Amino acid sequence: MAAKILDGKLIAVKLKEAAKKSVAGFGKSPRLVAVQIGKNPSSLVYINFQKRAAESVGIEYKLVDLPESVSQSEAERVIGELAADKNVTAIILQQPMPPAIDAKMLMDIIPPAKDVEGMHPENLGRVLTGDNRIGPCTAMAVMALLESTGVKLYGKEAVVVGHSDIVGKPLSLMLLDKFVTTTVCHIATSERGALAGYVGRAEILISAVGKAGVIKGDWVKDGAIVIDVGINHRDGRIVGDIEFEPAAKKASYITPVPGGVGPVTTAMLMKNVVELAK
Ligand code: NAD
Repeated sequence: MAAKILDGKLIAVKLKEAAKKSVAGFGKSPRLVAVQIGKNPSSLVYINFQKRAAESVGIEYKLVDLPESVSQSEAERVIGELAADKNVTAIILQQPMPPAIDAKMLMDIIPPAKDVEGMHPENLGRVLTGDNRIGPCTAMAVMALLESTGVKLYGKEAVVVGHSDIVGKPLSLMLLDKFVTTTVCHIATSERGALAGYVGRAEILISAVGKAGVIKGDWVKDGAIVIDVGINHRDGRIVGDIEFEPAAKKASYITPVPGGVGPVTTAMLMKNVVELAK
């Protein structure tokens, strides 16, 4: 089978159009503030994507650039001020942060009503009960990609590889909420040599690991829907976790990397700003 390509850019355009319409109805532009500590080259790329997406839907995007040497207490003070500022709709902390900074403590300062990444325990708690209004953007992007296939998810068997707080765990809750029978694999699954077996059963396969080629194309079940969240740099190119060409021969749908999950994640960030502004 030659898989249909799930074009994340097309889905992102639709999400951003909807966000733009909502913003036009607000009468005042919401303001998204990104806080960057130090100059990490990969976060500079994301900042540009976010800025462009925000501007295209009428969201004001402001970057607060703190030096690599900033102290924990100064970073906390700056984020505390943003949290209290009535003109700030949403706050995003760019990762990764310098090792001397306790990112978790900074995240705790962002109130749930400004938590655009959907990572505050209150917002995550809502995801647990099936309310994804402000959910983690990447997990929501995967759900949007799955739904774009039009395939009935109810009763399907899914395998999520990766159990991070930001992707794998919330995604497994969102799948369960759709009555998808969901298995979550992680490093320990691989260490006992069981990953290929689980992947081979997946009618829906999602990988969020961050290791190029960790999932072999010939493990993929015939007709599976394959979503690759991974972003890896190899030989000067960006590739996913799943060997693309052999997987595409077996899958029914597959996301490209880049151009699959990434653009939808950025668009979901804009959707979250709109929800927070409401
Ligand atoms: P993480 O490092 O927090 O988690 C990695 C997960 O992979 C863990 O559950 C770990 O146990 C598992 N793992 C590691 N090695 C494994 C192996 N050999 N076999 C099976 N499981 C293994 O990562 P994260 O923050 O969830 O990100 C994962 C990937 O997704 C990264 O490449 C990241 O860049 C990418 N990502 C992409 C987007 C996007 O919008 N496209 C958003 C977020 C993250």
